[in-house]
Amino acid sequence: MADYKLVIGGEGVTTSDHLDVKNPATEQVVGRCPIATDEHLDAAVDAAATAFLAWSVVPDEERKAAVCRMADVIRENSEELAELLTREQGKPLNGLGSRFELQGAEAWARHTATIDLPVEILHQDESGSVELHRKPLGVVGSITPWNFPLMIAIWHIAPAIRTGNTVVLKPSPYTPLSTIRMVELLNEVLPAGVLNVVTGRDDLGQKITEHAGIQKIVFTGSSATGKKVMQAAADTLKRVTLELGGNDAGIVLPDANPSEIAEGLFWGAFINNGQTCAALKRLYVPDALHDEICAALVEYASKVQMGDGLDETSILGPIQNKMQFDKVVELVEDARARGARILCGGTVPEGSGYFYPATIVADVSDGFRLVDEEQFGPVLPVIRYSSLDDAISRANASESGLGGSAWSSDIDRAKQVASQLECGSVWINNHGMVKPFAPFGGVKASGIGVEFGRQGLEEYTSIQVVHS
Ligand code: NDP
Repeated sequence: MADYKLVIGGEGVTTSDHLDVKNPATEQVVGRCPIATDEHLDAAVDAAATAFLAWSVVPDEERKAAVCRMADVIRENSEELAELLTREQGKPLNGLGSRFELQGAEAWARHTATIDLPVEILHQDESGSVELHRKPLGVVGSITPWNFPLMIAIWHIAPAIRTGNTVVLKPSPYTPLSTIRMVELLNEVLPAGVLNVVTGRDDLGQKITEHAGIQKIVFTGSSATGKKVMQAAADTLKRVTLELGGNDAGIVLPDANPSEIAEGLFWGAFINNGQTCAALKRLYVPDALHDEICAALVEYASKVQMGDGLDETSILGPIQNKMQFDKVVELVEDARARGARILCGGTVPEGSGYFYPATIVADVSDGFRLVDEEQFGPVLPVIRYSSLDDAISRANASESGLGGSAWSSDIDRAKQVASQLECGSVWINNHGMVKPFAPFGGVKASGIGVEFGRQGLEEYTSIQVVHS
């Protein structure tokens, strides 16, 4: 069984303790992740702080080229990384699985390399000028979750490195191995200390957020943990970008064509087995279309093969971990006990692994836990409505505000609905298609700040105004 190492200052660092990382399809150990001590964390922060002295003054074109080389490394090693990702995360190699995630990681790195933050001239006349410059912050602490470990790591580290910061990255203990391997490979094209990775026990994230040598935290995970990150970052006044959970609603308008939208609705909800922050988690449909939409979704679900992600025919894999699996079972059973109809799925298959089939649930409404809570799994509740205004206010009656969607044959009408949804991104006739040039972030309890695009890059900088 392979023991993985921390990467600190460009070197692999062995630890005395390790954690087993399990394959959720087989419950067998994939490899052992190192447990960092406090001294390891200090060493990683020191290495990043030392590297920052040189990296922060490297010419912009060189930093762009370095981020392009990161994209090249991801491409050249994508098959190895995809297989390791599948073995620890569970998602299939095929479909919208590991290979897709690696393509996304490469695309995001490549696009990030193209964005510029030029000096802005705020004022200029015969008496002088006022210029706005962007400067890197220092050491960035990146804390990533288990749903898209590699792509989210790149979402954090590419803009940080591009803008002249250095990074200490901490992946989730459920899925640390592919991140460690990717960091090892990226260190072949980055100066020592620019990118470090530490893994360990559950208190490591908090220690990173409290660490006085770190100037910013970028965190993707649950809203509950996001609040803790913000509290822990307060003492040292760190900048934070928080991309947190969502309970995204989709609203089908009465003029939509069920057979045309079924595939988009299905993948909006079931991408990555629903373990996606901006997935469709509540679907509001008009009474007149309810049965047709349910039938179209069930028919599409019947064609999607679930199995071990290493099997090239699998399109959906297992749920990533036991905690999440238990949560999904609990929410579906709660809905069933309250009279909901399980149109497909809803039973745990025999055998090992955290498999749960794509499940469509009807006769549910607001007030059911399955609707009110973020299920973060392969389940979609379909909720009837008779008044569009009422559907919009129910969609907005949530603490979360990450994404939303409107489905209609009339784009202008859909945009009118979109404008009334309380969320950071709204998609028309799809759900969750993030793009590397479009800022992405939540309102309400779904986060603070944005990632991607120029606005996302700016979050890794401070402003210095030069008056002359
Ligand atoms: P968490 O939010 O707890 O974990 C995400 C990351 O944060 C992990 O690396 C975790 O590491 C770290 N972390 C945990 N506690 C702290 C802390 N106090 N300070 C700093 N970092 C910390 O997610 P879970 O894995 O527990 O999943 C719980 C729920 O979160 C899911 O059911 C889902 O609803 C939601 N979620 C949302 C995601 C998104 O993309 N927005 C992604 C994953 C989950 P460690 O475990 O070692 O503490």
